[in-house]
Amino acid sequence: MGNERCWNPEIERADRAALEAVQLEGLRATVRRALRTPFYRERLTGAGLTSADDLRTLADARHIPETTKADLRVAYPEGLLAVPPEQVVRVHTSSGTTGTPTVIHHTRRDLDAWTELVARCIVATGAGPADVFQNMMTYGLFTGGLGLHYGAERVGLMVIPSAAGNTTRQLRLMRDFHTTVVHATPSYMLHVAHKMPSEGVAPGDLFLRKAYLGGEPYSETTRRKIEAFYGIDVYNSYGLSEMNGPGVAFECVCKDGMHIWEDAFLIEMRRPDGSPAPAGEEAELVMTTLQREATPILRYRTGDITRLLPGPCPCGRTHRRIARMTGRCDDMLILNGVNVYPSQIEQVLMRLPEAGTNWQILIEKAGALDRATIKIEVLPGVFTGEVKALEALKARISEQVRSETLVRAAVELHEPGVLPAFELKAKRVTDLRPKE
Ligand code: ADP
Ligand code: ZN
Repeated sequence: MGNERCWNPEIERADRAALEAVQLEGLRATVRRALRTPFYRERLTGAGLTSADDLRTLADARHIPETTKADLRVAYPEGLLAVPPEQVVRVHTSSGTTGTPTVIHHTRRDLDAWTELVARCIVATGAGPADVFQNMMTYGLFTGGLGLHYGAERVGLMVIPSAAGNTTRQLRLMRDFHTTVVHATPSYMLHVAHKMPSEGVAPGDLFLRKAYLGGEPYSETTRRKIEAFYGIDVYNSYGLSEMNGPGVAFECVCKDGMHIWEDAFLIEMRRPDGSPAPAGEEAELVMTTLQREATPILRYRTGDITRLLPGPCPCGRTHRRIARMTGRCDDMLILNGVNVYPSQIEQVLMRLPEAGTNWQILIEKAGALDRATIKIEVLPGVFTGEVKALEALKARISEQVRSETLVRAAVELHEPGVLPAFELKAKRVTDLRPKE
């Protein structure tokens, strides 16, 4: 696989020394720009960093203060703008999963650099100009729509900007235009699968070969279920609006971890106490933009938990790979003292042969204790069984969750299509406990 086609072979296969030289230059340029913003000028000078020349090696990045989502909100709307307003050509925001959205400005060159990264991702999955690309992500301030759109056009795919929602129309477009590649959240891809029988469409009626799924966490088992149902390859796509959006990290044809574009981003793995995590350990991903002009961001705490994968990738790309995200730091639930990420529960549930694809967890206070209820859709055949068998299944699911995650939860079984479906990001957790 060493000869896989690259969009930009020179940089995608650059050796470590060359990559690090590019990174150091990018880091200095970024700090220089950041010093022009009111927010970072105060931050950096406060930390004794008054000139980009103070950074002699990449390791010196450790002296730069970290940036949090809360900082970006304080800087709203223009406290991070490092160029004169007339150079800004577009603005995007995050989708606001965890609060007020954050704002990112882009210059023409920023958009161009972002498009280049997305083009690399698309080519890394083996797609090309002969493909028809249906972009089922929301267009607008959310970055999933326009981000992939321009990258796909640059590579030369035929783009159908169908945007999210309206499943009947999505399926018609897929059939009429012979769509081969789609981009969506895993939740929406599952929703489309559920709707297909009632729309009279079978996977064999479609021409799909690949799906780019991201924007929210999902398990390896969910990937495999989607692949088996549609008969396609699913590629994991990771991005966040603060670092452009999609195009930050993407799986190549090896489908074993996502290459993160290191000429565009300096990455660090952070332990909860702020110290650097050794390679292979699960930790929070921290990122610094190395190319962005309008909104430079230094040592941004993404809140996303992952680990670096060891060794080179057989595809020949040298940019390091990150594992599927375990979750966000702020997603972690504490249930009667047990720490658990929703993704860990999902992993247990999706392995059950009776499981459908949609599930939720409800958390309430019952006296001093937390009470958790898992609601899960099961396959249609399950409900034809006896009541006793259903009770046994609930007990088995509950026990499986307890033995693998230590969480004690009651289980409710539901028919397929009963729990709310999601066109963008799924909301799995409803936490009704009073806030402290
Ligand atoms: P918000 O932070 O409001 O959701 P974004 O739309 O920028 O705004 O979403 C970025 C976040 O989505 C990431 O920080 C991460 O938590 C999540 N995410 C994106 N892609 C993936 C993926 N492939 N796997 C897991 N989580 C993802
Ligand atoms: Zn690879």
